[in-house]
Amino acid sequence: MTGLRQNKYEDERVYIELNLENLDHNVDVLSEALPSGCQLMAVVKANAYGAGAKDIALRLSKHGVEAFCVATLEEAIELRSFGILGSILILGYTPPSKAELLRRYDLTQTLTDYDYAKALSLQGFNISAHMKIDTGMHRLGFDHFDLESIAAAFSLDCLNITGIYTHLCCADSLEPEDVAFTNTQITRFYDVLSMLRRENIPVPKTHIQSSYGLLNYPEVKYDYVRAGISLYGVLSTPEDNTRLKPDLRPVLSLRSSIIQLRRIKAGESVGYGRDFTAERDSLIAVIPAGYADGYPRNLSNGKGHVLISGCLAPVAGRVSMDQLTADVTDIPGVCVGMPVTLIGEEGAGAVTAPQLASNGETITNELLSRLGSRPVRTCI
Ligand SMILES: *Cc1c(COP(=O)(O)O)cnc(C)c1O
Repeated sequence: MTGLRQNKYEDERVYIELNLENLDHNVDVLSEALPSGCQLMAVVKANAYGAGAKDIALRLSKHGVEAFCVATLEEAIELRSFGILGSILILGYTPPSKAELLRRYDLTQTLTDYDYAKALSLQGFNISAHMKIDTGMHRLGFDHFDLESIAAAFSLDCLNITGIYTHLCCADSLEPEDVAFTNTQITRFYDVLSMLRRENIPVPKTHIQSSYGLLNYPEVKYDYVRAGISLYGVLSTPEDNTRLKPDLRPVLSLRSSIIQLRRIKAGESVGYGRDFTAERDSLIAVIPAGYADGYPRNLSNGKGHVLISGCLAPVAGRVSMDQLTADVTDIPGVCVGMPVTLIGEEGAGAVTAPQLASNGETITNELLSRLGSRPVRTCI
């Protein structure tokens, strides 16, 4: 007997199942949470957080999303190749020598500092750009206090600055000192906008919040919210302590199946390094998904659990590159061919991406964005 097969992808060694209705739903509930006049900018960098940029971006576009952001030029060009017509903001660095591609694909480039803006302008293409202001994260951006450089960039020749933004670095925390720091960042950004008005520089489109910025600072009103992780229906950690709690629904599941079952005796070990030794006679399931598919090696030896027949089975031994093994001794009726859920719901059980990420000592964003190119992407 083999397990119940619900769709043809259950024959794939490991596959990602996308629930695009949940994606539509998340767009709707996040849009409802936006202040009036504010638009959702969908963050689809890193292959749409592992989900697959094509399916996700096309569905978002069909559902009315008109603004997208990605991290790199290549990701932006890829979106255009899928037929995405909306605005596309590149959040990261693009070498100035590639300015012609920015122009050709009608992309919007982030300006990270004055020297970069000048180098891009000197290429001689009329590039659409959003200026990034560093208000305290100390990563990319013009220093918020360097009003001279900020104003000077607006008079560079071959740049069309259509937006200005900053990034909050601790908006996920409601600890008083983090809230104070976030408020400082918001004030600093506001002060930059005041300066522009004083200098009679028309203020372009503004944005400051990503997912946690929206969920913890919903009263902050700018033109766009750059929503990434929340769009995929999950938060970065299992903690559910944001001020707004929209009904987000996970978009992505990661599934595989049992390809081999093996009985081992008490005292025998499983996997590399013999890290797992059975304390009793055990039934071990081999699942063809490993760290090269994006299942973190950090989840070895009981840190990760997989779902079989709606029951949790601990990972036994080390996760390998292409396989993992789970202890299924306690699950009745297990057989070769049975579906295995690595991330997602099955029956009454669930392995959530935030919990799995947390068990692997990382955040959901990293877990999802590292799902490799091997799992087949499929939509339900
Ligand atoms: C990735 C990214 C986002 C999206 O963040 P989420 O926490 O996933 O919503 C927003 N803004 C910038 C600048 C980013 O790099």
